Amino acid sequence: MVKPHILALPFPAQGHVIPLMELSKRLVNHGFKVTFVNTDYNHKRVMNAMSETSLEDDQIRLVSIPDGLEPWEDRNDLGKVMEASQSVMCEKLEELITRINELEGDKITCVIADESFGWALEVAERMKIRRVAFWPAAAALLALAFSAPELINNGVIDNNGVPQKSQMIELAPEIPAIKTENLVWVCIGDTTTQRIIFQAICRNNQSVKLADWILCNSSNDLEPSAFTLAPEILPIGPMLASNRLVNSAGNFWEEDTTCLEWLDQQPPSSVIYIAFGSFTVFDKNQFHELALGLELSKRPFLWVVRDDIGDYSTTHAYPEGFLERIGSHGRIVSWAPQQKVLGHPSVACFLSHCGWNSTIEGVSNGVPFLCWPYFADQFLNESYVCDVWKVGLRFSRNESGIIERKEIKSKVDQLLDDEMFKGRALKLKELAMKSVMKGGQSDIMFKNFVEWVKS
Ligand code: UDP
Repeated sequence: MVKPHILALPFPAQGHVIPLMELSKRLVNHGFKVTFVNTDYNHKRVMNAMSETSLEDDQIRLVSIPDGLEPWEDRNDLGKVMEASQSVMCEKLEELITRINELEGDKITCVIADESFGWALEVAERMKIRRVAFWPAAAALLALAFSAPELINNGVIDNNGVPQKSQMIELAPEIPAIKTENLVWVCIGDTTTQRIIFQAICRNNQSVKLADWILCNSSNDLEPSAFTLAPEILPIGPMLASNRLVNSAGNFWEEDTTCLEWLDQQPPSSVIYIAFGSFTVFDKNQFHELALGLELSKRPFLWVVRDDIGDYSTTHAYPEGFLERIGSHGRIVSWAPQQKVLGHPSVACFLSHCGWNSTIEGVSNGVPFLCWPYFADQFLNESYVCDVWKVGLRFSRNESGIIERKEIKSKVDQLLDDEMFKGRALKLKELAMKSVMKGGQSDIMFKNFVEWVKS
């Protein structure tokens, strides 16, 4: 019998690479061979950020193909990434699979591609290989993408995805209602980017029909209405839980693990953990207000400040005297081992941009949230946290759109002085973990999937 050989292809962004790597690791544990395809650019970053031990431990084969962008082009420009992928990456993927199948004993038997790369499912279909779409975000977001034709028909958006007027979209009860201006393709960059992303979504809505499975890193317990609305989406998550299998493999930045020792020295449930994922950038004023808000809160904090968080010089990034004043009361790192941080008993709350991975990581660790969304799906996730699960609070902005220091202090106090938030967060954690534990719905779904890959 042919040993299943899976080719896994993530969208080239941190929040997509980590969960697909996690899924791949689980499949390797079931005896499958996995070839994981990053872009050349991200492959270099992943290799640089990986520790020697994870390199030795890892049984996933890491390979790469060009992303079609010039070396100096901005990889955070999602429109450019999407366009280049549809031409260059598409061709390179076909070449890679052909090469593997000609040269190696174990031919590719299954392609698992990020749902955002629907073209990869088309390549697999042309090559007569079995196909799986992987969705590393909320099921509600994919259900929303699936509803694009209906939104056009109802005159909510035009053929380019542009809202015809400001209104709330309610897909179903208990799915967060979303403002048209916060639709994922609307709040993702300039108008060209918005158009490219919307067109890609429409194409993906068609290509995803070629997939035998649409796997989603969420659970029925977390999003019952979304999975009822779009039953073709199948929950296998939340995979990124405290029992995370992959150590640092897949990170674009090297983890600073020294912050765990600093956390060990802090009182239980005292620390504010602040992280904005891999994309978010800050305007200098807002960055200062956040720093001063943390100082004002007078609680210990662990803050992830990526080297590329703003276009101001890092040496002058902080308010005058801030670093001296906070001393060892606050810790700043450029990339944290986030899973471990969120599972640490000293952490009291998570001030987060509400990327989906960060959201489910906080949920899986029973940590309440302060939500600071920026773009894409982060507003939808904020609404899950604050309105549906009620495990966090959102910030208010002033007339200039700034979240002021006193607002930060006030929400920190409100969240941490009200034990109901922590209580609900712990209940939600239990619910989330139940899904992935033996016999849980996501666990059963994953096992069925494994059997299918074997068959
Ligand atoms: N992350 C991390 N260390 C950090 C910040 C983030 O390991 O200091 C990880 C985090 O655990 C999550 C991913 O990076 O798995 C970010 O994904 P998310 O969907 O939350 O946000 P995005 O980067 O896509 O905006």
